[in-house]
Amino acid sequence: MNNIIYLDNNATTKTDEKVLEAMMPYFCENYGNPSSMYDFAKQPAQAIKEARGKMKDFFNAANEKEIIFTSCGTESANTAIRGVLNMNKNKRHIITTKVEHPCVLNVYKALEKQGYRVDYIGVNSQGELNLDELKNAICEDTALVSVMYANNETGVIFPIKEVVDIVKSKNSETKVFVDAVQVAGKIKIDVQDLGVDLLGVSGHKFHAPKGIGALYVNSKTIITPFVIGGHQERGLRAGTENVPYIVGIGKAAELAQDSLYFEATEVKRLRDKLEKGILKNVFNARLNTGLTNRVPNTTNIGFEYIEGELILLHLADCGICASSGSACTSGSLEPSHVLRAMNVPFTSIHGSIRMSLSRFTTESEIDYVIEKFPPIIEKLTSISPYQEELESLRLSKI
Ligand code: PLP
Repeated sequence: MNNIIYLDNNATTKTDEKVLEAMMPYFCENYGNPSSMYDFAKQPAQAIKEARGKMKDFFNAANEKEIIFTSCGTESANTAIRGVLNMNKNKRHIITTKVEHPCVLNVYKALEKQGYRVDYIGVNSQGELNLDELKNAICEDTALVSVMYANNETGVIFPIKEVVDIVKSKNSETKVFVDAVQVAGKIKIDVQDLGVDLLGVSGHKFHAPKGIGALYVNSKTIITPFVIGGHQERGLRAGTENVPYIVGIGKAAELAQDSLYFEATEVKRLRDKLEKGILKNVFNARLNTGLTNRVPNTTNIGFEYIEGELILLHLADCGICASSGSACTSGSLEPSHVLRAMNVPFTSIHGSIRMSLSRFTTESEIDYVIEKFPPIIEKLTSISPYQEELESLRLSKI
């Protein structure tokens, strides 16, 4: 589709053409099964080896054997969580955060029904993790602590190194799993420096196609397989390897590694420009996170007394793709669990919009979005039922 301004890169990204190019030979030419004995299978087997090496470098892992290819971020998380718990059946306590992605939270909800005790650590109004709560929750029985690296809705980065230090100083046997889906390609991942035991990513969030993910498992961490069958991925993830997609995530990781500086400078500059442009020109806009430590591509802005879904529809009419913090559940508009955990005021929680850039976002696209926002918000405020509140807010900003 032409004339689309895509600001929803935390939902998914476009596949980089260089990634697609690297994948192409593994569909119709080098399509052999990498486990076969004949020479024709050697090229795909070699391609997997090289991709594993690229993922090892991407994570700064010590060993290629610490990388397992999966199908997505959800599978990486499920494999890590179930794999650790199955190896430690006598321990029944888990710690996570209130703001994890549903692919993590819903696993814990299911585990609670199986008798696990789960503590959900809170965040403050800027979306920062409450480390004291974490400290107080760890006990002898804690099998696993699972904390995301950056939040998908707000982009707020959690201090993983500090989390690991706290956990290990209180119980050295507790394993730490990190859902790093929203930092891959945005900030450097260094599993050795962080000291994490397991860490998962998803290819489609950093310009590989949908349907491929990776999980780092430290060599000292033993897990049970999640998908059981053949010997692939050292028995930890059965099923014939998805060679083209594995090649794709390897290439995407290599490209992402090379563009980290660009993300930290240029993508951040455009995100900041977008944010400032909107906050300056729209009287009822507020930055939900404040200026705390965030990934460089994400902003989450609340528009007081108006409905986020309506903003999205008007943006879509202008060709702009963004997302709201709320999910539509059974006909009622349920505000996001992340923004609720941050105690975002009710006046703006329903009118919150996430915009997420990528290395393909251009300055002229950002200028266009900055120009489109004020008339859309002005139109929606004029039909809001909260006219008195809006008027006093407007006066307070003069
Ligand atoms: N974790 C986070 C933080 C995410 O944002 C997402 C996807 O939005 C996932 C996990 C799930 O990844 P996937 O869609 O590859 O299963």
